[in-house]
Amino acid sequence: MNSGPATGRGVNGYVLAGTAAGAVLAAVIAAVLLSPDQGFPVSDPSAAARVVADRFTASELSRSGDYRSWGRLIGVATLVVEFAVLGFFAFWRGRRMKLLLEKLGRRPLIGALLAGAGISVALALVELPLDLAAWQLGRDYGLVSQDLGPRLLDWLLSTLISMLPAALGALLAVALWRWLRGKFWIAASILVAVWAIVTTWLWPVVVAPVFNDFNPLPAGPTRSEVLRLADRAGVKVGDVYVVDASRRSSTVNAYVNGIGSSKRVVIYDNAIRDLGPDEFSALVAHELGHVEAKDLRRGLTFALLVIPLGVLFVQLASGALLKRNGDDASGPALVPVLALWVTIAVFVLQVPGNALSRQVEAKADRFSIGLTGDPQGLVDLQVRLAKANLSDVDPPALWQFLFGTHPSTFDRIAIAEGAKVRGSDED
Ligand SMILES: [Zn+2]
Repeated sequence: MNSGPATGRGVNGYVLAGTAAGAVLAAVIAAVLLSPDQGFPVSDPSAAARVVADRFTASELSRSGDYRSWGRLIGVATLVVEFAVLGFFAFWRGRRMKLLLEKLGRRPLIGALLAGAGISVALALVELPLDLAAWQLGRDYGLVSQDLGPRLLDWLLSTLISMLPAALGALLAVALWRWLRGKFWIAASILVAVWAIVTTWLWPVVVAPVFNDFNPLPAGPTRSEVLRLADRAGVKVGDVYVVDASRRSSTVNAYVNGIGSSKRVVIYDNAIRDLGPDEFSALVAHELGHVEAKDLRRGLTFALLVIPLGVLFVQLASGALLKRNGDDASGPALVPVLALWVTIAVFVLQVPGNALSRQVEAKADRFSIGLTGDPQGLVDLQVRLAKANLSDVDPPALWQFLFGTHPSTFDRIAIAEGAKVRGSDED
């Protein structure tokens, strides 16, 4: 009977292009629908320009600009290398590769497991020099405090940690593809969605502690301030932890992660050490904004809405490539092909995802100002964060469009300055 959308046979180019467009459209619509209401979306760019001119010296701006442009170069190089390696495994069917695939194909499931682990390790190895370049760059600019040994140990750990899901994911994918053929995407979508939820839940309790120490924020004025703000915001924060971020770098930050029982606010020890009281309140209030608006759930919902068409596209594109290669569609050859298309799909669908993220972050800034009643605290925080983290105050628009998860420092200052204007209007 009909085997459903192709798994190797007769993939129509129009259907493929239509599915790709549909997946992008679904992501754009999901991003628009899930964008939080900004309330009064006032922002004051000319005031922000004055703040930047007053508070940053020309040499500070050029130093952070240099650091960030090198960083972007390393980032682009990493992407290029990643696509090149995956493209090579997915497209190249020279004699050696055919032999290897044939060997792995004798026991297809074990072969898939090995192919998944192998691709993951190959990527980590090829990207290691760029990883080290980023580390060296951070050292050169005094941002990174970690020595080479511990940095390599981190790399080894993260390589091992990502090998496991890569291997199991490959095994599952090949098993499902053999079993379900054209209905692969339905089961795969469900599994990817479950995986997204489980990792959000488990990440802070299982993976993050491998790399850092997390300790409950001890009783004292800092903890009292966090609890006071949470109380005023009327949100349950779960646990409040301090992470020993200073072990690696001098960057200042805080974040919320986990869901349900693993939900927590995590504050960098650097932030507790370096921020003034008003800056600290602005930072914590921003994180509370994420809790209050249930932004982790929002992010997961975005993923759940985007996954089905994304996975269907991956299935169709993979089917077409397998056919072009003359691969055995039910063997380990599927693994590199899937890996390439998954990476491409994630890269593209993340663009609307990042647009949503920027809206969510702007909203959390506005929430922070509302909670503390102190827009200047947020301005000071943004200036401090930009200096401590050597942020590009106003990054190139294309970069921001593709990769920006937060509004730029400039935009965030403009939001806070806009709130000042609005505040004085009400007086
Ligand atoms: Zn945030």
